[in-house]
Amino acid sequence: MTAPKLGQIYIISAASGTGKTTIVGQVLKTDPSLRLSISHTTRPSRNGEVHAQDYYFVSVDEFKSLIAKGEFLEYAQVYDNFYGTNANVVRNLQAQGFDVILEIDIQGATQIRDILPDAISIFIAPPTMAELEQRLVGRGTDSEEVIAKRLGKARFEIDQARYFDYIVINDDLNRACSDVLSIMQCLRLTRDKQLPFIHNLLK
Ligand code: 5GP
Repeated sequence: MTAPKLGQIYIISAASGTGKTTIVGQVLKTDPSLRLSISHTTRPSRNGEVHAQDYYFVSVDEFKSLIAKGEFLEYAQVYDNFYGTNANVVRNLQAQGFDVILEIDIQGATQIRDILPDAISIFIAPPTMAELEQRLVGRGTDSEEVIAKRLGKARFEIDQARYFDYIVINDDLNRACSDVLSIMQCLRLTRDKQLPFIHNLLK
């Protein structure tokens, strides 16, 4: 018997307001071999967000104790809150053969690239800066102060796109989703991923 294949890790990052969460949600619905790594955060939950589904919402003390126990693959302070990727969450999903999406910020992406060089990183870019501003204002979840902070940071974040393996432009939601799914499908067809099948074939 061959060992079950370990799932592929995908990092998906963007400046906030780029539509990344919508894209990730749609991609997850379309491809049953994908799972989202649910992060821990100290941010208060927004309307409609569910614990253990959108995030594990924890206190700063709980978060710090998880850091001390070495539970995070990566963690970062984003604006005024902590966010972290739990190593066990990712390993369990991978061990079940799922490909795992880490929907994380640029700092997290940099850390993951260093420790998991096989992870594939995808940057989602907005079509224009004006569109990005409109989306941030339109989603109505953040104060003016938070929106101003996020816009200020967006330029720097978008500049970091150059360190990602792929860049997808979100000018049309369906196209952006199909671009992300195409990247994933291409990767599944690479020699390294397909050789175990060929070896089995020739047994
Ligand atoms: P939001 O508060 O809007 O849900 O997320 C703010 C930012 O934190 C987003 O860019 C989101 O991708 C990022 N984020 C969510 N989870 C994690 C995580 O586990 N690690 C890191 N580094 N960033 C995260």
